[in-house]
Amino acid sequence: MAKRCDICGRGIQFGAKVSHAHNVSKRRWQPNLQRVRVVIDGVPKKIYVCTRCLRSEAVQKAIRSTAKTPAHKETAES
Ligand SMILES: [Zn+2]
Repeated sequence: MAKRCDICGRGIQFGAKVSHAHNVSKRRWQPNLQRVRVVIDGVPKKIYVCTRCLRSEAVQKAIRSTAKTPAHKETAES
């Protein structure tokens, strides 16, 4: 699995861990990726999206409609 957001393309960032004694060792920061069902071109798909994109609502999450709540579909369209 590629550690990359499917929306913004943000991936692993590299840097250095610096201790108090200034020992420098390489480290990396991984994006907080979540597997979510989103609507892309009207088709629900499961993709990996970083939490920054989820919070900024760059993606439209797919809503599972159930038989118990038929009114749910009308609100999802608007
Ligand atoms: Zn993203």
